[in-house]
Amino acid sequence: MTSSAQQRLEAIQKTIAPTSTSQAENPPFPYPVPNSTVSFWRTELHPLDSHRSTPELPESCDVVVIGAGYTGVATVHHLLEGREERDAGRGIVVLEAREACSGATGRNGGHLKPDVYFNIPKYQKMYGPTMATTIAAFESSQIHAVKALVDKEKIDCDFTLTRAVDACLDQAHADKALAEFEALVESGEPSTRDVCCKVGKEAEALSGVKGAKVAFSFTAGHVWPYKMVMHLLQRAVDRGVNLQTNTPVLSISDTASKEGYYTLTTQRGPLLAKKILFATNAYTSSLLPSYTEKIVPVRGICTRITCPPGTTPPYLPNSTSVRYGPGWYDYQIPRLDGSIVVGGARHKFMHDLKEWYNVTDDSRLIEPAVSHFENGLMQNTYSGWENSGAKLDRAWTGIMGYTSDLMPHIGAVPGKANQYICAGFNGHGMPLILLATKGVAKMIREDCSFEETGIPGAFKTTEERLKDKQNAILDSKPQ
Ligand SMILES: Cc1cc2nc3c(=O)[nH]c(=O)nc-3n(C[C@H](O)[C@H](O)[C@H](O)COP(=O)(O)OP(=O)(O)OC[C@H]3O[C@@H](n4cnc5c(N)ncnc54)[C@H](O)[C@@H]3O)c2cc1C
Repeated sequence: MTSSAQQRLEAIQKTIAPTSTSQAENPPFPYPVPNSTVSFWRTELHPLDSHRSTPELPESCDVVVIGAGYTGVATVHHLLEGREERDAGRGIVVLEAREACSGATGRNGGHLKPDVYFNIPKYQKMYGPTMATTIAAFESSQIHAVKALVDKEKIDCDFTLTRAVDACLDQAHADKALAEFEALVESGEPSTRDVCCKVGKEAEALSGVKGAKVAFSFTAGHVWPYKMVMHLLQRAVDRGVNLQTNTPVLSISDTASKEGYYTLTTQRGPLLAKKILFATNAYTSSLLPSYTEKIVPVRGICTRITCPPGTTPPYLPNSTSVRYGPGWYDYQIPRLDGSIVVGGARHKFMHDLKEWYNVTDDSRLIEPAVSHFENGLMQNTYSGWENSGAKLDRAWTGIMGYTSDLMPHIGAVPGKANQYICAGFNGHGMPLILLATKGVAKMIREDCSFEETGIPGAFKTTEERLKDKQNAILDSKPQ
């Protein structure tokens, strides 16, 4: 082990086994911590959760995927697509720092909600109308792509095709959202064809949300993310992919050997790999320092709310985002088991940067948010839920990868031959990852360019983006 890898190992060990909370809050670089809060999705663990395909790491491989979340696993799925050989996965190694699917994917809201209108005006300003349309189309196409995958692979993951409803409570915010939406319709933006917009009493009726001033509904989905990803992972392992959980990568050699191999240093020894995919989302800059401040770990919170047996509050057919004002919202995803997955509450803690910005500690809750969810959120929000007895069943935190310009970083790592990245989903990976990873797998398999993948150009990771000084994450913080 090189001395720099040794130093990182010592630093990580301090982070992994922090002796104080402040050490966990301020790791020397972004790194998954142990003893993470247990999400609802991870209450039924898959046999591969802590799996190691072989007792020792293989010596070398063709492709190493770092990170076994949705991104890493979906990429492997695409790498194997269309390959008939039973052992087509031989030569692919997946290294995961903690348990499989224990990062953001195993701790999110499970909401597949494409952005078909809300941020489109912002993207028009940033990237022009054509790119904004491309991004909206890319997102909305993923709902049916995920459904097709789940149907084809017969994945038992509670996939539900639904409508997402955004309900704005604040009049000024509602007026702005309505005006922007009407301008998009006027301009012929294709993604608005799937949007139903209602105002006043009809907004309350469409959303079920008391006091909604305007409501927008559009096609969306929800899923048990852990079950979906673990199913794909099982298929990959069955086809010879070598999975190594609890194996953090500590460092990677700067250059490849003359045979074309990079050396990855792990706590369990080295691994040589010809191609590397960083599916490390929030934690990317620990291995790729050029992404420091470009992909920032941001902590979020999610909960599950249940009603006591025998109570039958009105059925909520849609998933809902209740928008209190600019950047302030909660989202509710009613599950078919009668429970509701609820997240958001940013307005309760965003003023306190140390709770969320550059934070990798998902072993602790965010107390102001928990109080917000505990204090009758469903009762206060939805008509007919006043006497539902709805109460908090479970709360957990997770770490998202926010990017300084609000776009994911996808493609070839600048200046590093045969290294690829697919990360920085800004808390919004579910309607992006399946088709983004299809493109990345094409790059890895066929050595093709980013432009040949069909991924929106604004997502391409470039030297220019890495040099850019803006920080839209802090700019978007509710005031
Ligand atoms: C509370 C919360 C709620 C969310 N809700 C939604 C939602 O409803 N809808 C939506 O679209 N998105 C949501 N998101 C965001 C979504 O979960 C992410 O965009 C998505 O899961 C990212 O997937 P990923 O595979 O890229 O990252 P992850 O699932 O985080 O996977 C990255 C993996 O890399 C591993 N890793 C990192 N560094 C190393 C290393 N050095 N060595 C080995 N392994 C390493 C990590 O341990 C981790 O398992 C939410 C996120 C959170 C935290």
